Amino acid sequence: MNQYDLSDRTAVVTGGARGIGLGIAERFLRSGAKVSLWDTNAKGLAEATSRLANAGAVHTQVVDVTDSKMVNDAVAELERLWGRIDILCNNAGILGPRKAGLEHSDREWHDCVGVVLTGTYFCTRAVMTGMVVRGYGRIVNIASISGKEGSPMMPAYSAAKAGVIGLTKSLGREYGTSGVLVNCVTPATIETDMVKDLGEEYKAFVLARVPMKRYGRIEEIAALVTFLASEENSFETGGVFDISGGRSAY
Ligand code: NDP
Repeated sequence: MNQYDLSDRTAVVTGGARGIGLGIAERFLRSGAKVSLWDTNAKGLAEATSRLANAGAVHTQVVDVTDSKMVNDAVAELERLWGRIDILCNNAGILGPRKAGLEHSDREWHDCVGVVLTGTYFCTRAVMTGMVVRGYGRIVNIASISGKEGSPMMPAYSAAKAGVIGLTKSLGREYGTSGVLVNCVTPATIETDMVKDLGEEYKAFVLARVPMKRYGRIEEIAALVTFLASEENSFETGGVFDISGGRSAY
């Protein structure tokens, strides 16, 4: 298969130990990039390293994206190791509980907004600063259709993903001439560990709203993200790219 050319590029994928992040990392590697996977799941990172052993140069680091010191230290270490970071994919996320919108505890709210929105900001701030100095970078944020539509019983997740869209638009516009392009994608449901326990009723509700009548596949998300992370994406920043089987209508 032809690939978007990421040769000589260096990339960070947060939440890269499994699911969509792992699929994006694999595609980045096969396109020629060196990839650092950041995740809280040390065992998952070890398994990902084995799985990606033949795909290219993989680096892993246990990083909690909600801890700004850990994030800043990880960026400093990687810049020492590789000289620079060209690509950041902010993928780490948690769904939080699915229950009545007014019954989320302080903790449940903060945990979800912390990983999804604050974590995306902390990683972006730490990595993008060097990108702006060097005059080149690609940031791709994994938002969600929940951030556009609002998913019932997921208020923190929906609000945080809407926040990721706003953050993308804000930074994309502010840094429009910097050489660093900031975009996000808004997938509909992809069958990963994150959604496997949501139940048949929820799945039926979701599929009824998707004109293509199926879930998305990890490699389909990875393909769009890889384009946005490449030099071939040269004339969009602050953009919101749907990938929803036709579900997203605006
Ligand atoms: P998974 O739950 O399969 O994987 C998420 C990964 O992120 C896990 O390895 C998890 O580690 C890690 N993670 C969680 N919290 C942190 C943290 N604080 N710091 C670093 N890493 C962390 O999720 P998906 O692959 O399904 O989703 C990836 C992204 O795509 C998320 O942002 C999600 O919101 C988004 N998305 C997913 C959709 C779907 O249908 N699956 C649809 C639309 C968007 P651990 O194992 O320790 O929890």
